[in-house]
Parts: sequence; structure tokens; C-alpha cells
Amino acid sequence: MALKELISKLPMEDLLNVQTRPFSNHSVEFKTPFTADERAKMLEEVGLNVFFFPSQMITGCDFLSDSGTTTMTSEQWAALHTGDEAYGSNRGYFKLMEQVQDVFGEKYFSDPTAGKPNAFIFHQGRAAEDALFSLIGRLGEGMIIPSNGHFDTTHANIEANGIKAVNLFSPELKKPGSLDLFKGNIDIDRLKELLEKSADKVPLIYVTITNNTGGGQPVSMENIKQVSDLARHYDIPFFIDACRFAENSWFIKKNEDAYKKTSIKDIVRKIFSYADGFTISFKKDGLSNMGGGFFAKSDGKFAKKYPELLDDMMNYQIIKEGHPTYGGLSGRDIMALATGLKTITKEEYLDYRIGQVQEFGESMKRKGLPVLTPTGGHAVYLDMNKFYEGTDMKPGDFGGISFTALLLAAYGHRACELGYFAFGSYDPETEEEHFPEVNFVRFAVPRLKYEKQDLESVAEAVKNIYDARQDIRPVDVVYGKELSLRHFKSRFKFRR
Ligand SMILES: *Cc1c(COP(=O)(O)O)cnc(C)c1O
Repeated sequence: MALKELISKLPMEDLLNVQTRPFSNHSVEFKTPFTADERAKMLEEVGLNVFFFPSQMITGCDFLSDSGTTTMTSEQWAALHTGDEAYGSNRGYFKLMEQVQDVFGEKYFSDPTAGKPNAFIFHQGRAAEDALFSLIGRLGEGMIIPSNGHFDTTHANIEANGIKAVNLFSPELKKPGSLDLFKGNIDIDRLKELLEKSADKVPLIYVTITNNTGGGQPVSMENIKQVSDLARHYDIPFFIDACRFAENSWFIKKNEDAYKKTSIKDIVRKIFSYADGFTISFKKDGLSNMGGGFFAKSDGKFAKKYPELLDDMMNYQIIKEGHPTYGGLSGRDIMALATGLKTITKEEYLDYRIGQVQEFGESMKRKGLPVLTPTGGHAVYLDMNKFYEGTDMKPGDFGGISFTALLLAAYGHRACELGYFAFGSYDPETEEEHFPEVNFVRFAVPRLKYEKQDLESVAEAVKNIYDARQDIRPVDVVYGKELSLRHFKSRFKFRR
């Protein structure tokens, strides 16, 4: 019997549950052992603010962010060595140009040797946002930029330039028990309403894929097309915050019927065919530790409507970051980034990456933990309101902060409170706290870094804390409750 026939008699499908990873370890880093007591002492020293906790002492998993925390591939490490540190038009810049053209479409990166640049690289996403919105801000007064959910730095950069940042979250996002698969969508009815009333005040429409502020939920191709049609109708440029473009494309392939047979690369091309430009942090789906960018389609609405802004962008960049041909990046970073962009659209990578995050969410769910469902592409969100249901924990007790402190001290895992403290605010006049609608602790999973065993261990640790939730103490804010972006700066103490 031929080997092929023998194989055909073996059950192959069943193996899907225990599929091997599509890569193997090339190099690993051993952790330094620390005890729970040592961590607790250090955490108290830094005022229970996990941002100030030395990462060297994290013996478990670090979920503070998935931004710039990726494990690079051996190809990327090799590419670092070929970095060209020339002061203008380094080798990597042209490699990046080829790669951006290949992934997003040729018109997003014109060859600057042949004319004016329409692609600008920055050291991070927020630097690209600052450039864009400070230029847009000069166009007039009373402007509004609507979005399906502005990321916090995007929001801050827009408002810092006197423009109003409006979030039109999908109504499905707040519906309890909704099984909608594209909760990241923009509320198209409210967008229509806004445009009917004030289209002349809208310099850009923004869509964030995936919707990081909205629970990391994906946006459908249908929704993207609807926004694009509306933008065209009103002659407004349509921009994408593209940080997780590959992960969003994976969700479109899995959950939108028309795209089940389309390759990820073609889905990405299709998304960006609808847009006029995008900003991006390459620390997410650039599979890199550093990098950002602003890209305007050469024949898109932005380039046509605001040609002078592209000139201004070049001036801005030279003053603040460097020549457009290296942006804020070293030549080796550009090489690592160009190489990372090749890997990120591979289906086997995305199947594994998002599969891992989904399985992490499922594991928590199986343990009876209240997580936001469906799980998004890069993080699992624990709903702290449900977590503390039936206990005495009140909003002003900041139980999310207590939880992250306990998880880090006891088990060595670092997660991030994104709820009543991070998104809430204190009014010194009325001495009152204002609480946001959502109250999460986020576990953002770094790319290619952890194995199933690591994440299982975290789910168990969370379950142990959940079982002991009646005993968890509130915290008092001992410093910084009135500050902006306070969760990065504040200090806390457990209440006696
Ligand atoms: C991370 C992020 C940004 C900002 O990028 P940085 O590189 O961190 O400055 C903007 N938008 C979204 C959706 C992000 O996730």
C-alpha cells in the first residue's frame, strides 16, 4: 500500500485541537526567579502601579501591552544586521517601500526619487497622528473627526489641535449577550446623521481596525465599504487607523461570507482600496518593536483635497523626526520592520496568533470567569463589574487596580486596568469621580511570545483570585487622581 493511502486512513481533522505551532523556538530568554513576597514588597514600593514594576521581576506573563512587545523572527534578527544607517535614502527605506506597496497597494508609497513623497515614517504611531492632526487643525475651527472608536493617543492628538473627536461605537458593543461578530463597526446610522448635519465640518472620517478602544473587536468589510461610500458622497477623505490591519482581515475571512475563500493579502488590498490614507503603529501588525507611519494614496481624496498638507508634512517631519527617508527610525529598525511586514499577512501566522488569543479567552470562560465575548484579536478583557458582583466592591474602590496588584504580586503576571481608574476622572471642584461605561482589566497578548502552557497558567491564577474575590480589599489613590492619563502616573495603597 502506498504511503499516501495509509495516511488517508488516519484521522487528521482531530489533530486540529492540538496542532503544533507554525514555528519553532530560535532563541529563548531565561527569567530570574523571584518569590511572591519579593514581588509584593517591590509592588508596594512602586505604589501598586504596575507600570513602575521592574519587568525583570515578572516571573509569569507580561500582558501590559501587545505594542512593540513582539518576539521577532530569525529573519528579522538577521535583517537587523543589514541595516543601512545612511542619513538619506537608506537601503531599508526602499525595501520598506516595496513591502508597503505589496501589502497595502502601490499608490500608498510613491517612489520619492520620482517626485513628492506621500509616505512618511515615524518612530511611533502617535508621532504620525501628531503630524497629521496638527496640520489638519490649521484648516479651520469647529471641526469634527468621527470614528468607530478613536484610540486614546489618536483622541488626544485630535483634541489637542482643537478638533472634536467623536466615537460612534456600534450599538452591538453595549448590547448584553450580543453575538454580533463585528462589534468594532462604526454606527453607520449615526455617521449618516452627523454628515447630513455637519459634513462641511468633517475634514476626515476615521475607522480603527481592529477597534482597540471598543474591546479589540473587528470591523467588517461591509462597514468599511459603507463608510467609504458615504465619504465619497460627501467628498471627505476616508482614513484608517491600521494598527491591526492583518488581524482585522483574518476576522473578515473567518466571519464574512463573501470573503471565506479570499486570501488575507487580497482582503488587505481590498480594505485599503476603499481608503484614501492611513496611519499606523508598526509596533502592532508591523511585527516590530518600533515604528509608525502616515500614508496618503497618491490619487486619493486626501492628496487631491489637501495637496499643500503633504508639503507641510514633509517640513513637519524634517523638523521633528528626520528626513522622510528614515523618519524617526534607525536603518536597522527599518529593515526589521520591512521583514516583519512580510510575515504578518501569512495565514498560518494569523491562524496561530488569533487562535491563541481566542483559546485564552475560551479557557477563562470555561473556568466561569466573566470575559468580554467574542474575544478580540489581540487581547482578552475581564469584565470587572461582573467579577465583583455580589461583593462590597464599589466603583470608587477601584477593584480593578486591586486585582492587577494581586495578580502580579501573587502569581507574577502583569495585566492592565482599563476601566474605572484609567478611563474615569476626578473633578476637584465637586470632589467627585466620574466613571466610564466600561470597566475592564485587559490581558494584551504579545505576538509570538508565549505558549499555551503559559496562558493556561494565567487563566488558573485568575480563577484562584476570582474564588477569593470576597476577601479582596479596595485601594485608595495616594497620588495623582486628578491628573490626566492618570493610570500611567498614580500611586495606590490597599485600604485597611
Ligand atoms: C498603539 C495604537 C496607536 C498608537 O501607536 P503608538 O505606536 O503606540 O504610538 C494608535 N492607534 C491604535 C489603534 C493603537 O493600537
